Amino acid sequence: MIRVALAKGRLYDPAVARFAQAGIIIDPEPGRRLLIPSSDAGIEFLVVKPADVAVYVESGAADVGVTGTDVLRESDADVLEPLELGFGACRLVVASPASAPYPELPGGKTARVATKYPRLAWRHFALEGRPVEIIEVHGSVEVAPLLGLADWIVDLVDTGNTLRANGLVEREVLLPVGAVLVANRASQKLKLEEHLALMRRLGA
Ligand code: AMP
Repeated sequence: MIRVALAKGRLYDPAVARFAQAGIIIDPEPGRRLLIPSSDAGIEFLVVKPADVAVYVESGAADVGVTGTDVLRESDADVLEPLELGFGACRLVVASPASAPYPELPGGKTARVATKYPRLAWRHFALEGRPVEIIEVHGSVEVAPLLGLADWIVDLVDTGNTLRANGLVEREVLLPVGAVLVANRASQKLKLEEHLALMRRLGA
């Protein structure tokens, strides 16, 4: 049996579609079951919050998972990444108000950076030797500069519409982001044939 952890949210529908293309149909009416069977007796699914996919896979509670490279890099989980899935493309960027100078703030003030990605943001500025204060928030990041909570944000951008609508400009790309298949190290060794077969079906 291969257990697949899927992330709720944006990646869910394209992930289910990719498995369906591979002939693996997730039970559309699982009721209250959290371990969801599929049309393939050897594959079952579990649906968790995006940040938890890597936790389930790293621990071996799930053999493989579908997650975005943004939450994966933020977590630093020790998992294999055997396959890029080619959907969920976006980028993690630094953005700041169009009306304010960048990267210097008036008076040499230390920038406050609001983000859902404190580790990636901290690492980015630390590597460049730029002191910042990281403010961790869990949503609506784009409003932080408007409200004076932060000077800059580090957030995901797809079309850029949300940034523009909030008077922000993309300044730097930290990370190109996309959906990947992740795998538990031990599981891939112990069930190599099943992992290879699944990757062939998903990659085809
Ligand atoms: P956009 O206006 O198309 O640039 O989308 C930006 C908003 O959607 C931001 O609030 C992001 O956090 C979110 N977003 C964009 N792409 C993704 C993605 N692939 N996964 C999760 N959230 C995303």
